[in-house]
Amino acid sequence: MKKLISIVIPAHNEEENIVVIVSRIEQVFDALSYNYEIIVVDDGGSDGTLNVVQQIAANDPRVFYIELSRNFGHQSALKAGLDRAHGDCVISLDADLQHPPELFVEMIQKWEEGYDVVYTRREEDPTLPASKRKTSRYFYQLLNALSETEIEQGTADFRLMDAKVVQIFRGFTENDLFIRGMVKWLGFKQFAIDYMPSKRFAGASKYNLRKMRKLAVQGVTSLSVKPLHMAVYLGFFISCLSLLYIPYVIYAYFFTKHVNGWASIIVTVAFFGGLQLVILGIIGIYIGKMFMQGKNRPTYIIRSTNIK
Ligand code: UDP
Ligand code: MG
Repeated sequence: MKKLISIVIPAHNEEENIVVIVSRIEQVFDALSYNYEIIVVDDGGSDGTLNVVQQIAANDPRVFYIELSRNFGHQSALKAGLDRAHGDCVISLDADLQHPPELFVEMIQKWEEGYDVVYTRREEDPTLPASKRKTSRYFYQLLNALSETEIEQGTADFRLMDAKVVQIFRGFTENDLFIRGMVKWLGFKQFAIDYMPSKRFAGASKYNLRKMRKLAVQGVTSLSVKPLHMAVYLGFFISCLSLLYIPYVIYAYFFTKHVNGWASIIVTVAFFGGLQLVILGIIGIYIGKMFMQGKNRPTYIIRSTNIK
């Protein structure tokens, strides 16, 4: 009996890419002796992505679609696919062909060698605009500086997971998803493969600066409470500084010709005002997360699917 490999592809307005990626995947599997299924998750797009997948699925029993009820975002769409995959392992990749399906061969080989998670590291693409490369580098630096789970530069959601890992992942009830961090946190035997990303085949990137910032904040705050600790340290440090300042003020009061301290009052008020707002904001983010989690809503809602 051949093993079954599930391929999960979150897609948001990717109609021109679907046919190409499905045929590239088919080509890869032509040379391998595995059964496979392709699950495309239509993440509430406005173009013909779903139509295209449904047409392919009508003629190919290995192709499935999951239509979400609206745009839930990349991470939730990916979770929807992982939740429904049947395979002995699951490979996730982007719909835009930046993640070359040809890498499956090596990933599957490592899985057969006994690794539970085979993730990929994107090498820096020299043709990418400098701004995108920089933001991506800062993203990982910030993430690692602010959290305990080390995430290597260039790891995206292009990875293979053994069914037992997927099974455990499904049991997570957190609705604030940062899947690459969660998978790293899970442990198991993990292996990294480096690859050179291709260019987006068609359409435009859905990650603008705002979405990337959101993912960065989400990444840090869903992985760790380190920012809270740092807020405490910072507060402590500032308090110590002010303690040093008080003797000076007393000394100045008695022994120097002191002017009315307008400037220093303004400076301290402004400084502490800002600091308090920052720290309140950090606390607020975490309380917000508890609020969202407390509502216990699903991370995605399926409108239709042909998966049984
Ligand atoms: N995506 C999604 N929902 C969204 C945004 C993106 O399912 O709200 C999918 C998108 O179709 C693609 C993948 O997530 O398959 C990565 O997105 P994109 O290529 O736009 O990101 P980039 O590669 O530019 O970081
Ligand atoms: Mg992309």
